[in-house]
Amino acid sequence: MDYKYLASLLFKEDLKSIEEYEEIYPPRNLKEGAQVTRIAPSPTGFMHLGNLFGAITDERLAHLSDGVFILRIEDTDKKREVEGGVETILKVFNRFGLNFDEGATLGKDNGNYGPYRQRQRELIYKSYAKHLVERGLAYPCFCTEEELAKMRELQAERKENFGYYGKYAKFRDCPIEEIIKRLANGESYVLRFKSMGDAEKKVYHTDLIKGKMEFPENDQDIVLLKADGIPTYHFAHVIDDHLMRTTIVVRGEEWLATLPIHLQLFDTLGFKRPKYAHTAQLMKMDGGSKRKLSKRKDPELSLDFYHQMGYPVLSVIEYLLTLLNSNFEEWRKQNQGVSYEKFPFSAKKMSVSGSLFDTDKLNDVSKNVIAVMTETEVYDLVLSWAKDYDEEFYNLLSSDADYAKNIFAIGRGGKKPRKDIACWNEVKSYMGFFYDEIFAPDYEFPENVSKEKTLEILEEYKNIYDENADMNDWFEAICALSGKIGFAPSTKEFRDNPDKYEGNPGDTSMVLRVSMTGRQNAPDLYSVMKILGREKVISRLEKAKKYIEEAK
Ligand code: GLU
Repeated sequence: MDYKYLASLLFKEDLKSIEEYEEIYPPRNLKEGAQVTRIAPSPTGFMHLGNLFGAITDERLAHLSDGVFILRIEDTDKKREVEGGVETILKVFNRFGLNFDEGATLGKDNGNYGPYRQRQRELIYKSYAKHLVERGLAYPCFCTEEELAKMRELQAERKENFGYYGKYAKFRDCPIEEIIKRLANGESYVLRFKSMGDAEKKVYHTDLIKGKMEFPENDQDIVLLKADGIPTYHFAHVIDDHLMRTTIVVRGEEWLATLPIHLQLFDTLGFKRPKYAHTAQLMKMDGGSKRKLSKRKDPELSLDFYHQMGYPVLSVIEYLLTLLNSNFEEWRKQNQGVSYEKFPFSAKKMSVSGSLFDTDKLNDVSKNVIAVMTETEVYDLVLSWAKDYDEEFYNLLSSDADYAKNIFAIGRGGKKPRKDIACWNEVKSYMGFFYDEIFAPDYEFPENVSKEKTLEILEEYKNIYDENADMNDWFEAICALSGKIGFAPSTKEFRDNPDKYEGNPGDTSMVLRVSMTGRQNAPDLYSVMKILGREKVISRLEKAKKYIEEAK
């Protein structure tokens, strides 16, 4: 058959030759070992943890090697696309501080290897498709949906492999006259690859994560261009990653099943195969067994969740790094205060089976991250979170920045900073009691102290309270007050003679803590009182007293 003639029938547009494209997108001039990676999300409007998981891997591999990190938009599936999908992708990646060297942006694409949106690359795919037709390696297939469904039924009946291959590849050797006739009739067709693969033979692959693997060769005449001329994932992946000169393709392990197709296309087109890193699925424990994270059941799969909860970006990244590279945690312990960018990230250290997502662990990591921030950093981040999610709290925080920063400074700095905040949505309940406007005490006074004594403490403390006392004097006063009301005057005295006293300075402090903060568990009481200041301290002693008296 005259394949060139066939190609000219199928492709009427004025297409560049593939040699021209090779010149437009020449091999990159990068230093030895530099990696070119890309993240290739579809604009479905839903950004999930897997996207970020992959993106961090790509970003680290590229930037640690002085390579190039690309954002490519895979918008070939119109059905799944939502309006604003690209904006969502850019917004979310930007939020996580991922810096692309090339790719789609809100404005013009950035880089010399674009366009970076697949729908704008239609003519490129067509050039390569035409080239394959000219070589007798691709052909039009006019099968209808019904015919394909029938074929499946037959294959099921015969217990044969599904798909379009061998004797089932109806249009593989269709005479040109018939093709001409069908084209003249305006029949719709897809363009299929003419596979020379043999499922009895093996194809070998060494994955950067999974190691050595082998698969049967692909013998399916897969679709390259759909009826509307838009490429399938398989074809677009091979053309794009060749022309963008990607050196490592990081993608989910669900693509392993079709890897033989991709390897075959790279080989057939004479392209150098990229390396691949197939990442394991994110899993979670559910009732004693592992399962994949699900969009329906697990809000934490969505990247929006972290924004809503107010997890600092760094917490999420550091947490994902603990999942990505098993030695990250150890490194982090030994390199406190060092940016994660200095960590020698390696694809080889990535988990071969599923990575287990664990919220408790995320919270731990996040507490560590927040614990070493300055109060100003915390203030700025909480404020920006509250601006989006809690207007009342935002107004309180911004009404007096110094007051808020003093609160955030409690237990900060020093060798053993407090680790009590995991995400910003916890902050209001953690420190809201500092604000009269939202102070909603849940008075639970210590049970071993009688109401009378509790009242006495609240009353007496008013008289001895000195807002200028240093920490020692402040505690001395509490001890003295304890002695005065018949409690042990010191913790030691109480330890030595526990039966002699009804209470001790710890109980006195607890009564004060509950009255100041409205709960038993609160940051350092001395600091709390210092920040509250005289007026609030006195009014809270009175408020608590009133509460007890009324409850009598
Ligand atoms: N658009 C594909 C996906 O979202 C990209 C896979 C790849 O990175 O090649 O799964």
